Amino acid sequence: MMDNLKELYQQVILDHNRNPKNFGKLDPHTHFSEGFNALCGDRVDVYLDVSDNKIQNVTFEGSGCAISKASASLMTTFLKDKTVEEARELFKEFQDMITADKNDAVDIDKMGKLAVLSGVREFPTRVKCASLAWHTFINALDDKNEEDD
Ligand code: ZN
Repeated sequence: MMDNLKELYQQVILDHNRNPKNFGKLDPHTHFSEGFNALCGDRVDVYLDVSDNKIQNVTFEGSGCAISKASASLMTTFLKDKTVEEARELFKEFQDMITADKNDAVDIDKMGKLAVLSGVREFPTRVKCASLAWHTFINALDDKNEEDD
């Protein structure tokens, strides 16, 4: 990983832990899912408000390691105002990025700040920490493990 990306990685993780974005329950919401990463003990709940095929709002709650929390926080800032298709595509791109070989180049122009999470490639056990919020988001979107109203 490039040195500047490594520095940014630490900074972004610290910042989002100190000041998580969109943290808390979203009421009302149209979609919800609970995520758990048994490997690390991370819990992330994702709330969505989807209408007109657009992610109008997204929040998360939970507790876990710094990476899982920072990734969830960062994710919410990227998903808001995306169409459902754009959001699914971004999930795919993010998943491809963090599971790629650590020597593969990261498209920083395309991924923006999400690129810093490619840092987990150097720590394979943390990949699930970084992807938990995203998998939970997709589950919420697909109404898997949805809360009974
Ligand atoms: Zn973790």
